Amino acid sequence: MEKREQLYEGKAKKVFATDDPNLYIVSYKDDATAFNGLKKGTIAGKGSINNRMTNFLMQQLEKEGVPTHFVEELSDRETVVKKVKIVPLEVIVRNISAGSFSKRYGVEEGIVFDEPTIEFSYKNDELGDPLMNAYHAIALKLATREEIERIKELAFKVNAFLKAFMKARNVDLVDFKLEFGRLSDGTIVLADEISPDTCRFWDSTTHEKLDKDRFRRDLGNVEDAYQEMMKRLGR
Ligand code: ADP
Ligand code: UDP
Repeated sequence: MEKREQLYEGKAKKVFATDDPNLYIVSYKDDATAFNGLKKGTIAGKGSINNRMTNFLMQQLEKEGVPTHFVEELSDRETVVKKVKIVPLEVIVRNISAGSFSKRYGVEEGIVFDEPTIEFSYKNDELGDPLMNAYHAIALKLATREEIERIKELAFKVNAFLKAFMKARNVDLVDFKLEFGRLSDGTIVLADEISPDTCRFWDSTTHEKLDKDRFRRDLGNVEDAYQEMMKRLGR
């Protein structure tokens, strides 16, 4: 397997073609952005942590019956993944109120929900990733009804696994964002990443934030929080 030309550079990762038409290589950067790119910075060591955490969690999820894009970790920062057509929806699951949920509904952070919630945002930087309901996603042909149902099923499965997995490590899984894609045969698989960039993790005892909110809100000790999460995973 050989790395070929760079196809895309995003805010947190680069995507490269390979000599295999069904495979990409993703390369994780230390760059951090927030508020739709308005706030920029770097988090030393983030690329390596997010790469390794994503791969570890995706391998666990595969065992739980969640198909993912993961193929092979090449190095600290680089991973071979199955090429997918990304469904342009950010799939957000929440267990505890925080972030945009608290802002939208005017409630404090930390309300523990009786049941997890799910919502979609349209992945579109120019529009600022607006909230989008399933009917609108289907109307715009972003996904079929069947695909939306499958995505919801998989997202809740990821939540059930990840929530219990983190709780055993004294971490509360507050909320997270997933992206799904279609393989060439149409199979829906989990893609992109699962990391402190895309999840909110709170220490169960102290409620200390162990995720990107430390960067977004200038709370300090950002690198330490990412490293602490790796330690909790025993990595
Ligand atoms: P952004 O595009 O939001 O700045 P990143 O910097 O993380 O995000 O860039 C990675 C890009 O690669 C994202 O657009 C993501 O949707 C896409 N992606 C993730 N996994 C795959 C995959 N397996 N195949 C194709 N594209 C993928
Ligand atoms: N999230 C993400 N990418 C985005 C938006 C949100 O990974 O573009 C994650 C975020 O880290 C959090 C969850 O999705 O874990 C819910 O985010 P929220 O809607 O509360 O938005 P925010 O407060 O980050 O603006």
